[in-house]
Amino acid sequence: MEFQDKVLKCIDCGSDFIFTAGEQLFFHDKQFKNEPKRCRACKAKRVAVLGATPAGGPPRYAKVETQATCSGCGKQTTVPFRPTQGRPVFCRECFQSRRSAASA
Ligand SMILES: [Zn+2]
Ligand SMILES: [Zn+2]
Repeated sequence: MEFQDKVLKCIDCGSDFIFTAGEQLFFHDKQFKNEPKRCRACKAKRVAVLGATPAGGPPRYAKVETQATCSGCGKQTTVPFRPTQGRPVFCRECFQSRRSAASA
């Protein structure tokens, strides 16, 4: 079966986008009945909002890595959550030394 590029309209932003022959072949292979409803940009936006997990997937797999500066030693670190404005952020070492200091 031959596929040809098709122009579809995005239901989110209303702009035209190309449903390429390759994508149609992929959809055909997967036996997807519905054509894509959103352009690439809107799809990417939705994925970002949903935390990159497929709809209905467990949210605990949504991993957020945020670049932050440690309030203890000033080192650049990544934290697995979005730091709240004004709240101190600690790197692994500072976090652990603070925790052991608190429990001692
Ligand atoms: Zn769109
Ligand atoms: Zn630190």
